[in-house]
Amino acid sequence: MNMSKHQEKYDLGDDSEDEIIASVNFETEEITVLKHIYFKCTGCALCCIENKIPVTEREYAKIEEMEDIDVSYALESLSPILIPQRVISDSNRIKAYLIKKKPYSHECYFLGDKKMCKIHPVKPFACKMYPFSLRPDHDEAVKILIHPESVCQFIFDVKEEESNTEAIVEEIISIINSNMKEM
Ligand code: SF4
Ligand code: SF4
Repeated sequence: MNMSKHQEKYDLGDDSEDEIIASVNFETEEITVLKHIYFKCTGCALCCIENKIPVTEREYAKIEEMEDIDVSYALESLSPILIPQRVISDSNRIKAYLIKKKPYSHECYFLGDKKMCKIHPVKPFACKMYPFSLRPDHDEAVKILIHPESVCQFIFDVKEEESNTEAIVEEIISIINSNMKEM
């Protein structure tokens, strides 16, 4: 994609409302795009170094099933934290743990050679969603926003015709649906 002169790196600013890129109503299947952005992951792995990644107990069990992965050292803390349920409603909160960082490099414990994720097929929902996250709106709707603490350098404000927000939203819906099927 050729970026035009008006392209600007996405600036989170102070106004949290500006972070929302789209709203999805799962009952009516209505998608409302609120922000025109262009994003394509370059695989730079900055997010695998800078972010703290929550892992639910269900995700942990799936990682444990992988061959050649010793997950027993992967948790930063055995004290569960509470994170919002990742679909539709935040009334129900679930337990999660944090993935440990490697000493010195501070990379995620699961980051392998050539910046490849060693648990890619079963990586946590938070990693699949990044640099976006969800905010429950009402019972059947969710807002999709740029992650409030995004370190990603590859989100750009663009004109509508250059935007791939809709494609991003479709991909996120597919991640949510497959996550719900696994629950
Ligand atoms: S920081 Fe952004 S571009 Fe880099 S791997 Fe993460 S999501 Fe992809
Ligand atoms: S689990 Fe994989 S994708 Fe997620 S932060 Fe770690 S290395 Fe990156």
